[in-house]
Amino acid sequence: MEKKELAVAALQNGTVIDHIPAEALFDVVRLLSLHHSDAQLTIGNNLPSKCMGRKGIVKVADTIYPEEILNRIALLAPSANVAVIRDYEVVEKRRVELPDELVGVVKCDNPKCITNNEPMLTRFNVLEREPVVIRCHYCGHTQR
Ligand code: ZN
Repeated sequence: MEKKELAVAALQNGTVIDHIPAEALFDVVRLLSLHHSDAQLTIGNNLPSKCMGRKGIVKVADTIYPEEILNRIALLAPSANVAVIRDYEVVEKRRVELPDELVGVVKCDNPKCITNNEPMLTRFNVLEREPVVIRCHYCGHTQR
């Protein structure tokens, strides 16, 4: 087994998010509010990756995220994958997948949009996944 895989396996319980593009790593950290988290964190960035050049990885001990939260990562890092670790074993591994609709996740870029002027949740339809293109349900504004 390669050394980097051993490093991942060293997490006893928790979640590993791997194959994050290096430039998206800290946005993923922010999206998961890890800067406010009390969990044990390991964050690596600019690690060599055969398929990506450089990548980031995040390991969060003793934390399992709802699928809905993890799928938001696909907005920033469509290539990311998630592994759930239990007793040092990978019990689940999958790619993040953007849902068809995003509610209350992204702000609309259109200043005249009702969602920027009323206390309400934003709602976007996902048009394209890689790269991500989304359209506001309320004003039809398209953004990436
Ligand atoms: Zn809008």
